[in-house]
Amino acid sequence: MRASAYPLIDADEAASLVLEHTPVLGIERVALAHCVGRVLAEDLVAPASLPAFPASAVDGYAVRASDAGKQLRVVGESAAGRPFEGKVTPGSSVRILTGGVLPDGADCVVMVEDVEEKGDVVTVPAALKPGVNFHAPGADLRAGERVLAAGEQLGPAELGLAAALGFPRLPVFRRPRVALMSTGDELVEVGEKPGKGQIVDSNRWALLAALREAGADVKSLGIGPDEADALRKLVGDALREVDVMVTSGGVSVGTHDLIKPLLESLGTVHVGRVKLKPGKPFTFATLPEGRLAFGLPGFPVSSLVTFEVFVRPALRKMQGFARPHRPTLPVRLGYDARATAERTEYQRVTLRREGNELVAETTGSQSSSRLMSLAGAHALVRIPAGAQGIKAGTTMEAMILSLP
Ligand code: AMP
Ligand code: MG
Repeated sequence: MRASAYPLIDADEAASLVLEHTPVLGIERVALAHCVGRVLAEDLVAPASLPAFPASAVDGYAVRASDAGKQLRVVGESAAGRPFEGKVTPGSSVRILTGGVLPDGADCVVMVEDVEEKGDVVTVPAALKPGVNFHAPGADLRAGERVLAAGEQLGPAELGLAAALGFPRLPVFRRPRVALMSTGDELVEVGEKPGKGQIVDSNRWALLAALREAGADVKSLGIGPDEADALRKLVGDALREVDVMVTSGGVSVGTHDLIKPLLESLGTVHVGRVKLKPGKPFTFATLPEGRLAFGLPGFPVSSLVTFEVFVRPALRKMQGFARPHRPTLPVRLGYDARATAERTEYQRVTLRREGNELVAETTGSQSSSRLMSLAGAHALVRIPAGAQGIKAGTTMEAMILSLP
């Protein structure tokens, strides 16, 4: 063992350092089918008005409001996509279907339920108002209007709008390409039977899911050995193709912990130890050409909590999200929270609603090796450094993972 050369950095300061060094990635034009969840990189301006023509909102008859109460001759039909080419003159009407173009001369649509039909004559109600039962051109949006702002995330409604306006592709921020590697001589692949002293590599699957959920395009490097030269070779080859490297394990100060010296030789280590529980040995480095490297601790809970605190916000910033952080909400503690006075602590909780409040219950033992503390957790309650015992009933801020 050697003493760590790295100062213990405050958790918020470490998170700021990470974001300060995180670039926003470039822009690419992507087909609508692949845009969901992506962030728009340029404002989207409507090239034309919607609707582009006066479109009937109902099935009925296109008439002139001044013909109220009269018997009108039906001179034709305007169906969706099949407009009536003539004109509605005084005393006449045109059968119209939802989405059909309001013919010239007509100024309103009477619902089919409100007319009396007899042969090719309809009797319309005694009171009619112009402008009724159709969507006027530009009623939904006008040509030149900003429809979506750069920085907005694209979901179903936004993509529908883009299609309606005639954009088959959209400018979005690139997704980060991430190399993911587990390290440790004790690790075996899932499905293999661990021998004495061996354990299954579970972090890679947990982190693969977390990375994908955060929008990353992941290249898995498998399991790296606790051997400096072999590790360097594995990483060196992969780095050329990615924006970010994420490793787990090998960041504490044991003699087999090789990630920190490796990152030092490749770039600059900005964070080597954090006042954070779990996750004290979290390591962050910048590498040449704007690349980032995150050395996450080996314990399964530590790796996922440091992912949430440091990696996800960085990946979101890279993808152009205006708000890199997960939402937080005040929650009322349903349990007495013991705190580690010198470190910020993220405790795993489930949430339930009680009236207008969210009440947090602990998921049990918060050991950093116990993934069960995170399975099914709705939130991470943030216990600030310096806090002592926090009593049940206290309201604390929590990072929301999912709502109950
Ligand atoms: P390390 O940071 O390499 O000293 O790892 C600390 C502990 O985390 C190890 O003793 C293992 O119990 C556990 N660990 C490390 N890597 C993994 C992994 N990929 N999957 C599951 N557990 C791991
Ligand atoms: Mg290890």
